[in-house]
Amino acid sequence: MSLTEAQALEMLRSDDLIGVGMEADSLRRKLHPGNIVTYQIDRNINYTNICTEYCSFCAFYRPVGSPEGYVLPLETIYQKIEETIALGGTGVLMQGGLHPDLKMDYYENLLRAIKARYPQLHLHCLSAPEILNIAEICGITVREVISRLVDAGLDSIPGAGAEILDDEGRHRTAGPVSQVDHRRRGRGAGRCWRSRRSPAAATGRPPTPATGCPGGRSRRWP
Ligand code: SF4
Repeated sequence: MSLTEAQALEMLRSDDLIGVGMEADSLRRKLHPGNIVTYQIDRNINYTNICTEYCSFCAFYRPVGSPEGYVLPLETIYQKIEETIALGGTGVLMQGGLHPDLKMDYYENLLRAIKARYPQLHLHCLSAPEILNIAEICGITVREVISRLVDAGLDSIPGAGAEILDDEGRHRTAGPVSQVDHRRRGRGAGRCWRSRRSPAAATGRPPTPATGCPGGRSRRWP
């Protein structure tokens, strides 16, 4: 069951937030009539803010060499995980910028160390662009990166907006990376691990009626 393209376009153009919310709730009730909503407690941990992508909407990243750039020490990451567990958390979403110098062994050691210490913790880590970045700087395939990350303890991959793979929208927000190339490479990452990804879309990203609505010709991971 899904919206028609015309319905999705109408909602995208509407400023009736309550009405759109009621429609969404109605659809949700049809798909999941049990009226049970679940949630989990987790925490975002940004292991580094150094990034070479320079997305125009991003206030988080710092360029290489910035005095405000950081890579979190492992002890600091442990401390954040402890705080999460103390609040009933069951997982962490760990993402950072596209660091040009952190190689495969850094990520493997990081995940392996966390998993050894907190075996029950769900590790939902590293967006498609980060995985592509690791593959690129290490000269290995995306498949190998994901396979090695899984071996080290990775449980699933966040969407991180990669499902809005529309050239026009991304051109207005992402950095200088080729949009088409970004999409092609993102698809490669998605295909490698089809069943363990989550969708996400950053508020304020600029979908257009022609390309960005859920029922229209939105670009999704394959
Ligand atoms: S890739 Fe991520 S961290 Fe880097 S500039 Fe874009 S949104 Fe910011």
